[in-house]
Amino acid sequence: MPSLQNYHSFHLQAEAQQLETFHDVPSALSLCRQYPQHYLLGEGSNTVFIENYDGAVLLNRITGIEVSNSDTAVSLRVGAGENWHNLVTTALAQGWHGMENLALIPGAVGASPIQNIGAYGLEVADFITSVEMVELATGLTQVLNNAECQFGYRDSIFKQALLGKVIITHVNFCLPKTYSLNTRYGELKALENPTAQSIYNEVIRVRRAKLPDPDVAGNAGSFFKNPVISATAFSKLQARYPEVPHYPVADDNVKIPAAWLIDQAGYKGKQVGKVKCHITQPLVLTNLGQATGSDVVLLAREIMDTVNTRFNVALEPEVRLVGKEGLVNL
Ligand SMILES: Cc1cc2nc3c(=O)[nH]c(=O)nc-3n(C[C@H](O)[C@H](O)[C@H](O)COP(=O)(O)OP(=O)(O)OC[C@H]3O[C@@H](n4cnc5c(N)ncnc54)[C@H](O)[C@@H]3O)c2cc1C
Repeated sequence: MPSLQNYHSFHLQAEAQQLETFHDVPSALSLCRQYPQHYLLGEGSNTVFIENYDGAVLLNRITGIEVSNSDTAVSLRVGAGENWHNLVTTALAQGWHGMENLALIPGAVGASPIQNIGAYGLEVADFITSVEMVELATGLTQVLNNAECQFGYRDSIFKQALLGKVIITHVNFCLPKTYSLNTRYGELKALENPTAQSIYNEVIRVRRAKLPDPDVAGNAGSFFKNPVISATAFSKLQARYPEVPHYPVADDNVKIPAAWLIDQAGYKGKQVGKVKCHITQPLVLTNLGQATGSDVVLLAREIMDTVNTRFNVALEPEVRLVGKEGLVNL
């Protein structure tokens, strides 16, 4: 059975029944139908195979970038198998600015709308005009506009109503020729006379300094989402922990950094088996080598339980855990 170890960034040892690659829409559809039990995979940086998968893993490698120019904007139609960071780098080199805050996020373009990737104050939803997909049940191509994608914080219709029902084949982006740089977040605030290039360089520098390289210590980026709680729940939390960092979000809700909760709960640097809560970024769990799926599940559950007991806040995984039969909830 083919090994999946090099096909997901956590690099756990796991196998699939089959491993197949598709480069175009007809072969994507035909493979999905040939293997009813399948898991679509881009670059595996949001997926952790915690045990052998009893089905076919189908690698999306639909490539190509089509460009059209107007007086006001550049439009890009990008194959779902293109690498995200290469797209950001290519765009910057061509003078198509805006996406530089999202540099160095691992993964394929086709996965970017699924959890609405974001960093440094921007989300991919800010640039997407539409997403092209094929419905597995009918084989029909559909195009969803930005509003129809129902983008939210690390969320979209592709993680909800359309989960497991479609193959994303292309993503359409619009980069306005007049744009404003976004330096409102973190280290970017300190940039003097920022340019798109200096933002790109700084984002890469900071990410390399803070986040473990998956090729050195397997990981899937943020393991948990930052919890969003009601204003009432937040008042209670703040009464007990006045120092709790927080950000107001839509509908009077409040976002709390999961890293702070995990750190306060005493998990920074903590290890279960061969999985460790990263020392400089406790939101990231890392594979110290030879880690197992049970190590991952044990540590993740322990963190969730402790944070819940101590702060009455429920953590939700950002990563997709895949077991024998498919997606697994913690
Ligand atoms: C070191 C590191 C840092 C990270 N930093 C960030 C960050 O700053 N911000 C952020 O938002 N994310 C971040 N991530 C998470 C990750 O980069 C994103 O979730 C990315 O979009 C995953 O892309 P992928 O191709 O690797 O997805 P995969 O793991 O291959 O797939 C993700 C999900 O999408 C489904 N899928 C994939 N392709 C298709 C398709 N064509 N059609 C239908 N379904 C599909 C899969 O079945 C799976 O459920 C980070 C990850 C790592 C390892």
